[in-house]
Amino acid sequence: MPEKKPGKLNMEKLVSLCQRRGFIFPSSDIYGGLSGCWDYGPVGIELKRNVKEAWWRSIVQERDDMVGMDTSILMNSKVWEASGHVTNFSDPLVECKECHLRWKADDLKENKCPSCGGALTEERMFNTMFKTFIGPVEEDAAVVYLRPETAQGMFVNFQNIVSTSRKRIPFGIAQQGRSFRNEITTGNFIFRSREFEIMEFEYFVKPDTDAKWFDYWVEERLNWYLKLGIKKENLKPYEHPEEKLAHYARSCTDITYNYPHGWSELEGIANRTDFDLKQHAAASGKSMEYFDDENKEHYIPYIVEPSLGVDRAILAFLCDAYEEEPDKDEIRVVFHFHPDIAPIKVAVLPLSRKENLAAFAKDVYKTLRPCFTTQYDDTQSIGRRYRRQDELGTPYCVTIDFQSLEDNMATIRERDSMKQIRVPVAALKDTLLAKLAGEDLFVLPEGGQIWKE
Ligand code: ATP
Repeated sequence: MPEKKPGKLNMEKLVSLCQRRGFIFPSSDIYGGLSGCWDYGPVGIELKRNVKEAWWRSIVQERDDMVGMDTSILMNSKVWEASGHVTNFSDPLVECKECHLRWKADDLKENKCPSCGGALTEERMFNTMFKTFIGPVEEDAAVVYLRPETAQGMFVNFQNIVSTSRKRIPFGIAQQGRSFRNEITTGNFIFRSREFEIMEFEYFVKPDTDAKWFDYWVEERLNWYLKLGIKKENLKPYEHPEEKLAHYARSCTDITYNYPHGWSELEGIANRTDFDLKQHAAASGKSMEYFDDENKEHYIPYIVEPSLGVDRAILAFLCDAYEEEPDKDEIRVVFHFHPDIAPIKVAVLPLSRKENLAAFAKDVYKTLRPCFTTQYDDTQSIGRRYRRQDELGTPYCVTIDFQSLEDNMATIRERDSMKQIRVPVAALKDTLLAKLAGEDLFVLPEGGQIWKE
């Protein structure tokens, strides 16, 4: 039989694995799906919560200069007029004269339809905000938009936060939430969707300090990915040339990731200057000035904004962690997730379903479950269960065998090295906590042993 060779990741493999293992499904799948919309399954939602949690902890909870918010998706339409979205949040659209498919002009390499080769219409601007109506009457005065970003909710609350949080500049407001963009073309799995989640923050600074803070945040944000295990060679900052900057930005650097479809934007960091607060001050008639009581001066702060799609981050974490490895005559597929983002931290696997063994294993499971996301699995052979946990990216498996009933010990198997140790059941919880925090597998608790197969 020809030897199986480990392959490289491509999007088809990833989409199929994510579906098979309960990470991500196409939305409304039984009706043929809805383009640009995805559903997170039981494993995917754990991954998503962990990614959001890791961000929230590092941006909000571990800093003194940041507060969080959760603002509404629907806002007064005047917000989107003042922000420039009603006039500017558009993409150039072209339509094929033959098959009538529509394309985003920016994405086309040649001036013909990528589907049938037909001629294209002239470009026209297409606003990508979703429109709906508030209340029972569908009239112009009732138009509201589904927010395409969460930033505006934070700008319009600037004075509320200054007067209630006791934060002094420099400080930031952070938020995570659903956002909607009626993208002309979607694709590359969860990279470009029509409904997605953003996590972003607005960092308010004194006007002449903006460049310094901008550089600081580019560095900080790059380090966040590295700390969570993304490989350095797969991340690259891209500085936008001046002529390509958005209307509100003085400078903008994207953190790009080497996705299977090529290097693309993962996170955008923009120096938005005082544009947003000035616009809202002019349109609402409310002051957006800040009083610096130390220097006794009034000014409108500048804003540095790092903005990141949760789903794009998840796609980067999935791609980066994926590996196919030779394992005896087989190929082992594994997600090497950092323990902080791994959807399931520990799996408890009884070697058999025999009653006394199952009862023992269930007890172990119940002592671990309150401490970390734990899964109990007693189906199929132990080898297949290890493979399944590898495909879920579970860092540690705890195996209970008949010997455990006699010596009160359990085996811990490490996902990445596939090495095993045997430890007293009473020490399991603390040992696993230490390993999940980064301790070497072979640092043993009292009574522990290195397992020799
Ligand atoms: P792109 O150029 O890829 O359309 P953008 O520059 O319009 O992105 P921003 O407006 O800066 O994106 O949005 C902030 C972040 O939100 C992006 O860095 C990206 O991670 C995420 N994002 C934007 N659009 C989408 C989308 N359609 N699907 C998923 N994530 C998105």
